[in-house]
Amino acid sequence: MTDPVTLHRLDPAQRPPDTVEAWLQALPGPAMLHVPGADRRRVRALVTLLHGNEPSGLKALHAWWRAGLPTPATDLLVIIASVEAARTPPRFSHRHRPGERDLNRCFRAPWEDAPGRLAQAIMAELVALGPEAVLDLHNTSGPSPAFAVSVLDDARHRAFASLFCDHLIVTDLRLGALMDAAEHLFPTLTVECGGSGDPQADAHAAQVIQRYASTDHLFGALPATDTLKVFHNPVRLELAQGARLSFDPADQADITLAADITRHNFDLCRPGDVLAALGPHGLNALVARDHRGRPVLQELFAAQEGNLTPRQPLHLFMATARADIAASDCLFYVAPAARQDVRQ
Ligand SMILES: [Zn+2]
Repeated sequence: MTDPVTLHRLDPAQRPPDTVEAWLQALPGPAMLHVPGADRRRVRALVTLLHGNEPSGLKALHAWWRAGLPTPATDLLVIIASVEAARTPPRFSHRHRPGERDLNRCFRAPWEDAPGRLAQAIMAELVALGPEAVLDLHNTSGPSPAFAVSVLDDARHRAFASLFCDHLIVTDLRLGALMDAAEHLFPTLTVECGGSGDPQADAHAAQVIQRYASTDHLFGALPATDTLKVFHNPVRLELAQGARLSFDPADQADITLAADITRHNFDLCRPGDVLAALGPHGLNALVARDHRGRPVLQELFAAQEGNLTPRQPLHLFMATARADIAASDCLFYVAPAARQDVRQ
């Protein structure tokens, strides 16, 4: 048997060191902090740093705590997850520890390995506490506007998301993410506050934490000027097994992603827009399945003069400028545009 993982309890009275780097170094491992709120009968959970290369949430927490830990509307449980991955050199560059699974794919059994046991420990803390909401704060790995992701589309999740973002992605895809597991028990939202390393994303994360902590009722009616755009079931575009991906045309890879691919995040891409250069295997180097597992590559994309282009207008999300992440996770997500978007 392997040892269970415990989350170290941080003392709210002990302010962190003055830089986020020093704080990360000093953390005893995966940690949690329980902040007493104005209404002690209710509690919310904030999870961050599930991915070690997504530091905006940790930076915002650090600044929030250094500012004196303002009393939240309700009790707030903060969980800081992938401390070890984040401080594996070079700092804030590893999504997960080398050789381990992605923690945000481990929130379902089996739990045998280290990330599985950490995911299990995080779920156990949430279950023990019964929060009225769970917010999981991430960065995208490429530059992107902020957006929220949920597995349910209802008035509560729309109101919750619109506190923080203008875009909500609703997905039926179950990857073993925290959101998939937690939603069975608590209203849960993932917020992607923008690209890692982008000062705007850090500022957005600070705003997310401030609003989440201070808003009295998270699921109030949507404001009359509701601007939330909702996208259902985006499709992941993945590299086929054995295919190679690069950003450098000199590599002659199977897929050479356009150098400015992240510029398209949340853009509407149209037939003729070049998303990548294709190699000798053409579209066969790619796989796209919808949330039911149906192959949809040919429906959504075409090969045109050796390039990958949309076959129909597509919204593109979560493109990254990192070849390793594009190859191991996915190149990007796309959602067919609604008719009214195409006319604009
Ligand atoms: Zn993430």
